Amino acid sequence: PSAHANMKDKADRATTEQVLDPRTRVILLKMVGRGLIDEVNGCVSTGKEANVYHALTPTKAHLALKIYKTSILVFKDRDKYVSGEHRFRRGYSRHNPRKMVRVWAEKEMRNLKRLRAAGLRAPEPLEVRENVLVMSFLGDEQGWASPRLKDAVIPHDHVAPLYEEMLLAVRTLFHRCRLVHADLSEYNVLYHDGHLYVIDVSQSVEHDHPSAFDFLRNDLKNVEEFFSRRGVRCLGLRRAFEFVTRELLPELVPNEVLNDVAAIQEPTEPVQVDASLPPIKSSASGSVHATLILRRWLAEGEADPLASAENGNGDASQEDAVFLRAHITRSLNEVFDPERDAAAIARGDNRGLVYADALGLVPRDEVRVSTSKVENTREEEEAEVDEDGSEG
Ligand code: ADP
Ligand code: MG
Repeated sequence: PSAHANMKDKADRATTEQVLDPRTRVILLKMVGRGLIDEVNGCVSTGKEANVYHALTPTKAHLALKIYKTSILVFKDRDKYVSGEHRFRRGYSRHNPRKMVRVWAEKEMRNLKRLRAAGLRAPEPLEVRENVLVMSFLGDEQGWASPRLKDAVIPHDHVAPLYEEMLLAVRTLFHRCRLVHADLSEYNVLYHDGHLYVIDVSQSVEHDHPSAFDFLRNDLKNVEEFFSRRGVRCLGLRRAFEFVTRELLPELVPNEVLNDVAAIQEPTEPVQVDASLPPIKSSASGSVHATLILRRWLAEGEADPLASAENGNGDASQEDAVFLRAHITRSLNEVFDPERDAAAIARGDNRGLVYADALGLVPRDEVRVSTSKVENTREEEEAEVDEDGSEG
């Protein structure tokens, strides 16, 4: 009862801050009743679509509550994420804001689970009830939230490793989670315990969403621009895009691996390096392998053989400008003339095909033509939403 009284105070205060409607308060009170949370404290962030609060469990562990606003106007401009997203084909009602917001909250929960399942650094989602998402709190023991990447004070020599970490995360997100963040920037990455934590994934789309490549290109543009401003020598947008999307990275021979692995301080998965073994096989997201390739590409940056071969010059920014304008086709269904393009690839003439690498059509080292689309993950097909009021 005292917890409820306390809760009621806090809820009242939050309500006067124009955040919590009565129904949301009921949801929070029920969480208190179930012993999930004990008190809700200050607002960590007020945003256009959601507010984030700090909360404590009965055992004084820190939690973050992301509470989506239920006003109808807020979610109007989200249509671009929804159309073409198979998880939204059913159950998304644009006329019922509560229902809509609930879909977004549930989607963020599921996406966070995917990130965590792939070993990515992200808040651990604990529970979602209508418009309230409960997750682990990224912050210190006193309850201060960790800074956004934008605001973080980062030791100078840690910035370049964080750029690597970011690109590897986006690659894992793409290949293992099969997601494109779609709002990735220094605003939606927290700097916590010396690492980057990806947050705010409610609008993330499946990697086969019709606009997935446009979203990804924009995500990577933000990443490249942020780290370039911080003095990191980056890959350049085009190669960053290739690094993230290319399913098969070039193989490495054991000697190269032996030399390079030693330089990786923190392998995220164990590697067995034995010169008597055959070369390490390319894999979609083997992170050590990907790290080695990324480092090689970064080292090669200035004398980029790919850039000079394809564009007649190695000017990365000009190359990026061309790339930004180019329309990237997401699937072979959308390729203008697949047979002509396949013939061009077979001739080794893939200059005009900006999508070729990304589709796995032209692994740069071994020419291989594949016309199969990336298989979709359908396990979360249903965004089942029924309007059963949960108030007693
Ligand atoms: P919005 O849709 O408002 O951008 P975000 O998910 O980006 O929502 O969260 C807004 C802000 O709240 C973040 O920039 C961050 O400062 C803070 N925040 C979000 N999640 C957490 C968390 N799990 N732990 C600590 N702070 C968080
Ligand atoms: Mg955000």
